[in-house]
Amino acid sequence: MSFENYDHTVVDLFLKYVNYDTQSSEESQTYPSTDKQKILGAVLVEDLKQIGLPDAAMDTYGYVTATLQANCNRKTPVIGLIAHMDTSPEVSGTDVKPQIHSNYRGGDITLSGDASQIIREADNPGLKDQSGHDIITSDGTTLLGADNKAGIAEIFDALRYLIKHPEIEHGTIRVAVTPDEEIGAGTKYFDVQAFGADYAYTVDGETAGEIENETFCADAVTMKISGVNVHPGYAKGKLVNAIKIASEMIASLPKDRLSPETTEKREGYVHPHHISGGVELTTVKFLIRDFEEQGLKDKEAMLKERIDTVIKGYPGARVDFQVEESYRNMRFQLDQEPRVVEHALEAVRRAGMEPKLNLIRGGTDGAKLCYKGLLAPNIFTGGHNFHSKLEWVSVQDMKKAVEVIVHLVQVWAGQVA
Ligand SMILES: [Zn+2]
Repeated sequence: MSFENYDHTVVDLFLKYVNYDTQSSEESQTYPSTDKQKILGAVLVEDLKQIGLPDAAMDTYGYVTATLQANCNRKTPVIGLIAHMDTSPEVSGTDVKPQIHSNYRGGDITLSGDASQIIREADNPGLKDQSGHDIITSDGTTLLGADNKAGIAEIFDALRYLIKHPEIEHGTIRVAVTPDEEIGAGTKYFDVQAFGADYAYTVDGETAGEIENETFCADAVTMKISGVNVHPGYAKGKLVNAIKIASEMIASLPKDRLSPETTEKREGYVHPHHISGGVELTTVKFLIRDFEEQGLKDKEAMLKERIDTVIKGYPGARVDFQVEESYRNMRFQLDQEPRVVEHALEAVRRAGMEPKLNLIRGGTDGAKLCYKGLLAPNIFTGGHNFHSKLEWVSVQDMKKAVEVIVHLVQVWAGQVA
């Protein structure tokens, strides 16, 4: 199959969607967290219908879904393609002014709306592969929204290609665009059963060629440290200060390892991220992260041992130590059906790239879906620096993502390259 002569719509769709402010909100009690996401949702429904998916619809939660019917007789799994419509609450998505830097020739990119916002070559190793590419950025006053509107545009452009090329065989394809992914709620009301996909892919990754098949394993630890409060004027030999116990415990943590600020790649960490309280009761909350469950257990045992040691120096003090499971590495689920990742790697190869497996130092909606019974690794979008005014996406890499999606459904249909 050839994409040389395909009149890609991926860039036009992308530039259209970034016009819509779809920032989600951590503070909101509603679902979706912001009504404005549904304004884009309605546009997506119309665009899907126009592409040729007449059943496109948005439900009351803001989930947009549609179906492309199978065109081959062989029994082929139903494949889901998933992206999210919201953008990060961390950076404004109001009045995004996309800038196209055509034929990039290397060097730093200074953004036109705020000269202090510079996409530096030194901080962006991905730029070295972009020579001759067209790079889209914001003007530096907002985020761009490539996370994840690039993914939406890529899925839609791939569907359009498939409809224009009926000779490409594929099984039934289900599409979903979710709200509220950035606040960790993208799958909250997502009905896996009704969606009806056997396997799925989120199109929400970064560098071209990458397939992400691992997330952290994550737990939360809460330490409630109880001291003894007495009038400080008459406290000799009686008062036990929970603040001091908590401080000593935290100060005993290693300074050169095991923290977010000293780890990368496959290294895990313990991260005290919240402390509150007083003399009588001080509560410390930790995030625990590792790619293996044993790594979590080891880190939790280390914390327990440290607080137990510290508290021995404070007779009368007590600690309540609670571990709560947050989420698990999606690889544990994906390993049950290796074809899901293998087919994605094959699709990247067929699109002329060297595939690379990567891991996510966080969780994803795909990981949540894996544990809801729908395996869903993550495909690249070509975007970089998500949740930042320095976000950028390569036009050529977006087109590569479209190619990968087209190849992917073909691989699943058992059609040879
Ligand atoms: Zn995203």
